[in-house]
Amino acid sequence: MSIKSTTDISSCTQDLKNDKWFNTSLARTIKDIINSNEVGTYTCKGIIVDFHPTESWYYEACGNERCYKGISKGSKVGDHCKKCNKPISKIIIRYCMRVLVEDSGEQTYFTLFEDCAFHLLKKTATQLLDEMESETGDRNGTPDILATLLEREFLFVVDVSMRFGARVCTIKQITEDIQTIAQFSAISRVHDDVEIIE
Ligand SMILES: [Zn+2]
Repeated sequence: MSIKSTTDISSCTQDLKNDKWFNTSLARTIKDIINSNEVGTYTCKGIIVDFHPTESWYYEACGNERCYKGISKGSKVGDHCKKCNKPISKIIIRYCMRVLVEDSGEQTYFTLFEDCAFHLLKKTATQLLDEMESETGDRNGTPDILATLLEREFLFVVDVSMRFGARVCTIKQITEDIQTIAQFSAISRVHDDVEIIE
């Protein structure tokens, strides 16, 4: 048997066997997240039901090694990058999608970045843009493949932070594994029962 290629193991999936998925103190519902001001890293399940109506599904970034800082409109190769403190050697396209996640009738937006989006779609954002351009002659719009993310239930590790007074939920890990989601649901219910007794 061959050893699993390291390219298959993105930061999005490497901890799938980690106990983190089943740590009751980290389990939250969408309702918990909406109704609380707490920040931190939590586990949460939900169905992706829609995309943000106006925001793009990708961003242009500094392509210097491991930088990926979003660049402002009109920036070009050679401009100074404030994050990595070097001239921008190339401009790259990275996923940044705001997905509407629903559970038990409650909804909120999570942000899906490069690693997790690539894990789900198996294509880079650049590939999608190039394909769209060759098919339609246009780089504007939304690739059809994004719709395949809808109406699917996932378990998320989500980082919740506050930025300029607004809650930002960033997906750090994602799995669609049915057994993992079922096990999470079971421990979440236990967690609920404990809270009710208290
Ligand atoms: Zn940079």
